[in-house]
Amino acid sequence: MADLKAMKKSNGPACPTCGKAESLDNRPFCSERCRDVDLNRWLSGAYAIPAVEKPDPDEQETGEVLPLSRN
Ligand SMILES: [Zn+2]
Repeated sequence: MADLKAMKKSNGPACPTCGKAESLDNRPFCSERCRDVDLNRWLSGAYAIPAVEKPDPDEQETGEVLPLSRN
């Protein structure tokens, strides 16, 4: 991957997204934008499959239990 090469190239910590030097405010990224890019990348990989809310009558997502509905 090109990104890994960029990281190894520089001595100090570098932005995983673009390989530039990281900024203190956005460590380990160089900018908020790169942080966002990486986050989206990560999220799209991690939650590639589910993420779709489907109505499931057996699953109480909110944890709210209505006494009347149980009767
Ligand atoms: Zn960057």
